[in-house]
Parts: sequence; structure tokens; C-alpha cells
Amino acid sequence: MGAAITIALVLALVFSAWRFFVRARLRRSQQTASGGSQATAIEVDRYDEIDAELASRRCLCGGKLRTLGEGTAEQGERSFRVVRTECERCEELGWVYFDLSAIEQAPTLH
Ligand SMILES: [Zn+2]
Repeated sequence: MGAAITIALVLALVFSAWRFFVRARLRRSQQTASGGSQATAIEVDRYDEIDAELASRRCLCGGKLRTLGEGTAEQGERSFRVVRTECERCEELGWVYFDLSAIEQAPTLH
């Protein structure tokens, strides 16, 4: 009886450790993927490209991303739209960075 409990505990521990490492690896690869940080922000020429990109993006588990909210960030001359996302399947949270510099610098007629 004691041995069975010990084995169950060890298995639970191994499983949660495995999950922890898988998640950490997913998070790292998301950060280095395009749009995962300001350094790899996706350049867009129009705002509707943001929606198109978000609709076509998938979580690493294959699930669709849901938008939770968005904000803006600036770094020197560059400005960014930052979108908070959540996977509909595994609920992994993430950020997608879009570089708006091309939009802001586009010549306007006013
Ligand atoms: Zn997912």
C-alpha cells in the first residue's frame, strides 16, 4: 500500500516537472518567434494587417488565439501595437508585437 502511494506521488511529480519544462520551452520559442517581442515585431503597413495576422496565427499546440486586449508601446522612433492573446485550447497567454512605424511615417494629406 505504501509503495503504491509512493509510486503515484513520484509519477505526479515527474508529470508536473515534464509539463513545467514543456511550457518553459514553448514560452521561449514564442518569444523568439516573429512578433514575440519588440525586437521581432511584425511590420505592418495597415491596421487591418494586424487582424489578419492574429486570425492566421496559431498557438504552438495548434489552438486558435483569442485577443484579450491591446495597448501601445514606443521605443525611440518606433511605435508598437501590443496584443495580449490567449490560446482557446490550452489557455497559454502570449503577446504579439506589431511595428507601426510604417503607418505612422506614411505621408498624409492634411
Ligand atoms: Zn495552445
